[in-house]
Amino acid sequence: MTTLSLVVPCYNEEETIKPFFEETNKVLKEMNLEQDTEFIFVDDGSKDKTLEILKELSAKEPTVHYISFSRNFGKEAALYAGLNKARGKYTAIMDADLQDPPALLPQMKESIEKDGFDCAATRRVDRKNEPPIRSFFARMFYKIMAKASNIEVVDGARDFRLMTRKYVDAILSLTEKNRFTKGIFPWVGFKTKWFEYENIERIAGATKWSFWTLFLYSIDGIIGFSTKPLAFSAISGILSMLISFIIIVALVIRKLMYVDCAIEGWASTICIMLFLAGLQLFAIGIIGIYLSKIYIEIKQRPIYIISEEN
Ligand code: UDP
Ligand code: MG
Repeated sequence: MTTLSLVVPCYNEEETIKPFFEETNKVLKEMNLEQDTEFIFVDDGSKDKTLEILKELSAKEPTVHYISFSRNFGKEAALYAGLNKARGKYTAIMDADLQDPPALLPQMKESIEKDGFDCAATRRVDRKNEPPIRSFFARMFYKIMAKASNIEVVDGARDFRLMTRKYVDAILSLTEKNRFTKGIFPWVGFKTKWFEYENIERIAGATKWSFWTLFLYSIDGIIGFSTKPLAFSAISGILSMLISFIIIVALVIRKLMYVDCAIEGWASTICIMLFLAGLQLFAIGIIGIYLSKIYIEIKQRPIYIISEEN
């Protein structure tokens, strides 16, 4: 059994794989784990030379393994595939772009071995080079997530973490298709030690996230771990019913008092109609999102499809 498995999702990372491998190997050497580690690179349907580089590297280095997907299935699927293959006593998830400093690995391993943690996780503590609007939405997301679900997604938590076998098996036991790993980690529980570091820029290439994809991802997270939005739509329905009831009573009283107002009130009627139509669509939309998630789950499609591996 290998001591350490490193799961590395790669999507168009032709420039970063080699530097990542070299940099990480330096640290592994210091840890005396250079031979006792398996790298599991998951090529997530890259369109550049990622797969060729992985093949080349694995031919030279016995510790390098790769899985290649038939198309781009997303980082979550890549992580699941990698964790499925990992056989190590400890398993770490690392990005290929060196934004996750391998230099932290020795401390992380020590916290598991000596201090009895099941997981050593990392979070970045600054958002310096980020547009303010993105930081604002990120903070909003963490707040809503904390309120809506009963799990705590730590602000700035990265996927970079070292886990025990027990922890990895727990993650693999969650077989849902809509995988929001940032929520799955806290959901499985166990004792987690946090390591903090300042944000590091990727060494080459570009991030795969845009504002819009992050926004959709955050909705996935909330929907995946909370049913409160459904309750919210029901409650707003009840509230608007209550308000309309009060208005009806007021109108009846006015009528009984013989105040004639046959023409007036057209604008306000339209406003109320538009508001209620909007509210209804909003509520149906929330239900629709849940329904679509159920639809995807129930189809029981595989999370990923492998085209080749070694
Ligand atoms: N990644 C992936 N599939 C995707 C998108 C990203 O496997 O569809 C990988 C990517 O190659 C990288 C990691 O996930 O190793 C993190 O991606 P990125 O650096 O773009 O995200 P960021 O660090 O900006 O959050
Ligand atoms: Mg990155």
